[in-house]
Amino acid sequence: MSLIRITKQFTFEMAHVLKGYDGPCRNIHGHSYVLYVTTIGEPVRDRESPKRGMVLDYGDLKNIVKENIVDEFDHALVMSEDHDNKLIDELRDKFERIIIVDYQPTNENLLLDFVQRLKRKLPADIKLHNLKLRETATSYSEWFAEDNMED
Ligand SMILES: [Zn+2]
Repeated sequence: MSLIRITKQFTFEMAHVLKGYDGPCRNIHGHSYVLYVTTIGEPVRDRESPKRGMVLDYGDLKNIVKENIVDEFDHALVMSEDHDNKLIDELRDKFERIIIVDYQPTNENLLLDFVQRLKRKLPADIKLHNLKLRETATSYSEWFAEDNMED
């Protein structure tokens, strides 16, 4: 059995704000995020399959990630529900893409959210291997399935 990891890269622009944080990210600001999604599996051997030789069609992976992450988060402002309701209501009233989450939207927590979203949508036989979310040229966080076997 030969396992292969395949990765697709995505980019999106997103704003966030970290409430209560003791650094500059407590202000609303944006990043050009780069998301790398890696799945692992054996290339299809069936001679009759149109996906012969592929772990997963890159196009299928692209569609799943685009529909469930990129299309929703691109050009959005992500903030936690801890902000006061008046501010949240006002922002929602004036802008279309305000995403309120039940976590502090750090790079790490966003990555965990994306992992859960993909786990729900990927075909059952496709195994997520790792996700990497780059926030700046020098900062990124990573999730590996092997580090989280209890999930
Ligand atoms: Zn930031």
